[in-house]
Amino acid sequence: MGKGLFVIYTGDGKGKTTAALGMAVRALGHGYPVTVIQFIKSNDRCGEHNLPRRFDGLLNVHVMGKGFTWQSENLDEDIALARTAWDFAAQTITEGKVKLLILDELTYLVRYNMVDENEILTAIANRPVEMHIVVTGRHASEKMIAAADLVTEMTEIKHPYQQGIPAQKGVDF
Ligand code: ATP
Ligand code: MG
Repeated sequence: MGKGLFVIYTGDGKGKTTAALGMAVRALGHGYPVTVIQFIKSNDRCGEHNLPRRFDGLLNVHVMGKGFTWQSENLDEDIALARTAWDFAAQTITEGKVKLLILDELTYLVRYNMVDENEILTAIANRPVEMHIVVTGRHASEKMIAAADLVTEMTEIKHPYQQGIPAQKGVDF
């Protein structure tokens, strides 16, 4: 029986969501139930959305965002969506049914003041003792980093985008 960790994958380099999904695969390999909640992005073309039916109810993936907030025409709608998604995440924490909970892109809810940071950190701090929570997204806040047990910052050194190579199925989504 290990201690549930609070993990953050942040920074501008590619690999944050990928690292979180790697942890999901590892946990599933041990038969641990996993939930992934994706905030902000409307990426239901992602390979990870096909996984649940292959994992027999062990893995649940919920896409709860609709696009990039900084391009948004309707901020009120985005805030309402973020609120709904966060409430669902908070409920998932309280229920305590999963061993690993991935809160993909959650950092943006704090960064853009869509949900109160203290509310988020309190819910994470009060997670069931054995639940791991992984948060991804650029610009993790100082408070969030202070609260976490493990923080890795992805640093961009090279990205295929710089060579004009577009996003690819199975690699980027
Ligand atoms: P991934 O989902 O590939 O692990 P990520 O979670 O670290 O990436 P996000 O900010 O969520 O990064 O952006 C996801 C998308 O943006 C992916 O298509 C990814 O290839 C692309 N991307 C990530 N980092 C960079 C970068 N430094 N330059 C250009 N594109 C990037
Ligand atoms: Mg990501």
